[in-house]
Amino acid sequence: MRFPTPQRPSRLQPRQAFFDSFPILAGSLVKQYVVCGKSGCRCQRGQKHGPLFYLYWKEQGRSRSLYVPREKVVEIRRQIRNYRRLQKELAKRVRHQLREWQRNLREEHRR
Ligand SMILES: [Zn+2]
Repeated sequence: MRFPTPQRPSRLQPRQAFFDSFPILAGSLVKQYVVCGKSGCRCQRGQKHGPLFYLYWKEQGRSRSLYVPREKVVEIRRQIRNYRRLQKELAKRVRHQLREWQRNLREEHRR
């Protein structure tokens, strides 16, 4: 897997440059049909409003949510996908690093 190269790599903050070009977001995007408060609205007769999109995430053990306008859905999805890709890549990297240490330390022990 390849991550995009930052447009203007910064020597001072390579990590910042990386995340500027590879934005990540943890949470889940949920599609909902809702009932509003207006009396006599069609939604109270079963024709609910929607689909409306909400981003859900956990912060300090609390569940939080945010309304996401339709035109932002694609971008939000992309950023959530980025986060999952990065998590997988990190897990792979850690496994690789553990194998390296296993090889390295076992060989040292034999000497
Ligand atoms: Zn309504």
